[in-house]
Amino acid sequence: MVDLTRRGLAASLAALPLLATLPGTVSARSSGALKPLPVTARYQVGRFEVTVISDGYIDFPFELFTGVTPDQARAATQAVFAAGNSGVRASFATYLINDGQRYVLVDSGPAGTVSKTSGYLPGTLAALGVKPTDIDAVILTHAHVDHIGGMVTGNRNNYPNADVFIDRRDVKTFTDPATEARAPAITKSSFEATQALVRLYPRLQQIDGEREITRGISVFDLSGHTPGQIGVKIEDGGQSLHLVSDMMFHPAAHPALPGFGIIFEMDKAAADASRARFFAKAAEEKSLLAATHMPFPGVGRIVKDGASLKWLPADWSY
Ligand SMILES: [Zn+2]
Repeated sequence: MVDLTRRGLAASLAALPLLATLPGTVSARSSGALKPLPVTARYQVGRFEVTVISDGYIDFPFELFTGVTPDQARAATQAVFAAGNSGVRASFATYLINDGQRYVLVDSGPAGTVSKTSGYLPGTLAALGVKPTDIDAVILTHAHVDHIGGMVTGNRNNYPNADVFIDRRDVKTFTDPATEARAPAITKSSFEATQALVRLYPRLQQIDGEREITRGISVFDLSGHTPGQIGVKIEDGGQSLHLVSDMMFHPAAHPALPGFGIIFEMDKAAADASRARFFAKAAEEKSLLAATHMPFPGVGRIVKDGASLKWLPADWSY
């Protein structure tokens, strides 16, 4: 029983300096950093169990952003204490949806391609007791390598039993030699990853527009960031969660500044317009969103803030 009387408290306080000066050998229970844990967060959406799995992170150099100068990008992130020495940190979230019978994976992370601090998805799936051969379907939100890099290792497909869904427009763009020839060098790895995806997944399904993938899981158009970016809507029993991929990078910029883009966007005007439309609609509908690169787990809502919009992280889901 804790003694909260004045005398008890005084006795406790008097004991504190003594505890603080105990020699290290007496209390040496820790011999260094603990082993890393899988980084996950779980949400229940009706009958769906949605596990957000981090594949790792990257520090995006300020020079990679468009619509702002590097100094403006640094200042915006500094204002929210998010500016690092080498840029702004961005998470790589992937999502495992479990409906009780099937496993659906959304995106596969960069798997070490564009960032050495990535590639944790396979280890986390193993920790959850899910084998790569257990994955029934993979929905890829777009063809950038930080979302599809984990689909293939060398000449092997990593999810051999999965039906793989990706928008036809992205496959067309990222397998087109003429587009590749004029694309910035920094996007080359996305072209290569898309070509490997097409080669190694005979069951790849190129999809056109909005459709249901399985009962309660559907895709919707978010084109702009890439020509065929799609979102994934999970809906059951009056609850829903929208996985919105790269519609938002960091709360320092989004949703307040739809003109804040990134160099990987081949059509900046389309990307900016898409963000402006989406931010307004999401605020109006108060949708629960999950965004790949927002600070982990990147689940929250866009809400009105005076004349502007802001990101409101959702409460932890117990
Ligand atoms: Zn991305």
